[in-house]
Amino acid sequence: MWTLVILLLALCMTSSNSQREYFWQLNDVHYDPTYWTNQESCNIPITPDQLGNYGNPECDSPWNLTREAILGIAFEGRLPKFIIWSGDTPHHPINDTLTQEKVFLAIRNITGLIEEILPDIPVFPVLGNHDYYPVDQLPVEENSMYDELGELWKNWIDFGGNYSDALQSFKKGGYYTRIIHEVSASVRGIVLNTNLYSPNNKQTEGMEDPGGQFAWLEDVLTQSVAQNEMVHVMVHISPGIHGGNPDWRMMREEKSERLNAIFRKYGRNIIAIYSAHAHSDTYQIYYDEGDPVTTMFTAPSVTPWKGRYDGATPRNPAIRKYFFDQSNLKRLLDYEQFFLDLVKANENADDARWAQLYTFNQAYGSMNLDPEQVNAAKETLRNFASDNFHNYYDYSTVGWKDPYIPCGCLCKEQHICAIENVDVHDMNACLESAPCRATPLSAMTTATTLLLAVLAMML
Ligand SMILES: [Zn+2]
Ligand SMILES: [Zn+2]
Repeated sequence: MWTLVILLLALCMTSSNSQREYFWQLNDVHYDPTYWTNQESCNIPITPDQLGNYGNPECDSPWNLTREAILGIAFEGRLPKFIIWSGDTPHHPINDTLTQEKVFLAIRNITGLIEEILPDIPVFPVLGNHDYYPVDQLPVEENSMYDELGELWKNWIDFGGNYSDALQSFKKGGYYTRIIHEVSASVRGIVLNTNLYSPNNKQTEGMEDPGGQFAWLEDVLTQSVAQNEMVHVMVHISPGIHGGNPDWRMMREEKSERLNAIFRKYGRNIIAIYSAHAHSDTYQIYYDEGDPVTTMFTAPSVTPWKGRYDGATPRNPAIRKYFFDQSNLKRLLDYEQFFLDLVKANENADDARWAQLYTFNQAYGSMNLDPEQVNAAKETLRNFASDNFHNYYDYSTVGWKDPYIPCGCLCKEQHICAIENVDVHDMNACLESAPCRATPLSAMTTATTLLLAVLAMML
């Protein structure tokens, strides 16, 4: 009798495991080909013996780290169904030493590396603000960079010639959509070029709908809903407020609100939105009339580079694996955040291994990543006495704690308000009613605000 029960249980577990598939998110590699020569991305001069084989927090990624990130995706478990490559491949040179050729070459080298290590795995490339020269100035019409990248990524974007319209819209505006056939005929990938909404992009200043992307997105989502599809949305720059600071916005406010309204309207058909650019780990929840309808997950970067401002905190290199349920395509089951302990890896190459930093479910006690579950997980952050908020805060720098910048009561409220309010006026209202409002703005001083604004311009 018991043998039978155990056998049945084992069978159930096998069948539920067989439903568990996954994909990866790779972003903000910022590969510096001059790491061992001119160190163009390093904030300060670093002697060769201090550089580190796998990177240095003052600099962008050396080739070793870049290669290790792709190898991590190849060897952490079975091969994934697909990869979201969320942009920002070139480095941040301290002087303007880049050219369009150098930017293209960096992207071509990493494309080649992915094709070599992960042949036949479909990739959804997303343009980052650094994947263009001059930086941030991504245009709204056809140009040689979109054209060259479109040709380079042709097989990934048009799925072997089946989506010529996807290649066409990429070459015109840097955005595209196609069904993720590798998962199901009813799951769609939508890749946006949100760099068009960056306040640093002079090309799109004053435009109501840069590149016609809003109209296109509404059109794609309307048709998608009519056909009962589920959608993964992939962006580089996210709308909303980052890091709990109401003054740190990476998108023009009216563009952020318009994009948020679309995500809210179609949220029940959006499995999740995946963003990058912030080089830190967070998430934001979209509500429709009080109900959580979808989530935007922001993944931390591969580069450990800490930015160029006083008091900046480095981060460990990161790659992220999402689990989904093949039998319930609307559901993300969990994600697993991997990190490379940079100090250990540099001390001993044998320690250059990706390790699990946390999984969302384990960290916050959720059962899956349904919006209701993510919302409940967010509520646990409000109990400041529990470990959940401290963990959330530590994860934002991928476990790097030197120097450790404490997060006081108002800082905590700011983080939580940012998770649940993607529009600036809602965020401000949330802060107005925060229990720590009477506390002086010591945790987030004007100086910090200014420094974060500087960082926002550099990511
Ligand atoms: Zn970046
Ligand atoms: Zn970026």
